[in-house]
Amino acid sequence: MKRLLCCTYLSAFFAVAPFAFAASKREVAITVDDLPFAQSGPRACGFGGLQIQTLHLLEQFLRQKAPITAFVVAGNCPDLTDDDRRTVLKLWQDAGAELGSHTYSHLDLSKEDPSVFEADIVKADGALRPVLGGRPLRYFRYPMLHLGPTPEIKARVARFIASRGYTNAPVTFDNSDWMFANVYASALATGNMELMAHVKDEYVHYMETVVDFFEQRTLEVVGHEIPQILLMHANRLNADLATDLLTMLKRRGYRFTTLEQALKDPVYQSPENYVGTNGISWIHRWSMTKGMPDKSEPQEPRWLQLEFQKIPKE
Ligand SMILES: [Zn+2]
Repeated sequence: MKRLLCCTYLSAFFAVAPFAFAASKREVAITVDDLPFAQSGPRACGFGGLQIQTLHLLEQFLRQKAPITAFVVAGNCPDLTDDDRRTVLKLWQDAGAELGSHTYSHLDLSKEDPSVFEADIVKADGALRPVLGGRPLRYFRYPMLHLGPTPEIKARVARFIASRGYTNAPVTFDNSDWMFANVYASALATGNMELMAHVKDEYVHYMETVVDFFEQRTLEVVGHEIPQILLMHANRLNADLATDLLTMLKRRGYRFTTLEQALKDPVYQSPENYVGTNGISWIHRWSMTKGMPDKSEPQEPRWLQLEFQKIPKE
């Protein structure tokens, strides 16, 4: 009996040890989209509230020592004055965030003419460069991760962003934080505290199921762990729960790294031949490029989808 216990213990140790070793090397780069603030509810872009929510979010990244690369939709929050916009974006820079472009109007390349899309990028450049105070504008994130519906459009726009000095910023931990955030903001606006609590109770758990899925899928597709890239949005929900989200990642063995550092991993030079109208994780793109059978990440909970459908669309 003693021998059995001993061997059970040892086999459990050896089963866990490789995971523990791998976990200690885990890295994730945090990227935040839709600055100054995702349009996730009424009054989201009023300057006073925007400043407070931005500080609240940034304070959590600073406290957790998580470097940030953040993507600005230059035409977001159109009622902000230039000074107010500059003030809010400077808060991000003061917190150490590197700012990248996410276009001027958040156009959908799956639907838009590529020449219109390219003009929108140029318009964003013109609006952003004066705000950056001479700091470089190196990274570009496609809205909705839509890289082009045909091979020709995809190649054309990729060449265009490269010609303007941009590096495309991929995403591996793709997720639907935006859906949780929209329901949360709507519940906040209507004083539905029960729904707010429901969203808060389930958001980080949902994000963990997505992270868990992509961790396993990375091993299947790439064969080993890689520096992951998380997409999240500048919104009220993340301003309230970023600490819980970052704590979950740390509990899973992650340390935070920069997008620049993550992109040095050779995996991000791997071919990515997906062409279509879906905005999907690079893990899926690589699996399709390799001809592997499709596997989808966990869906948003049904109750959330139903609540999201109830929100009046603009
Ligand atoms: Zn976006």
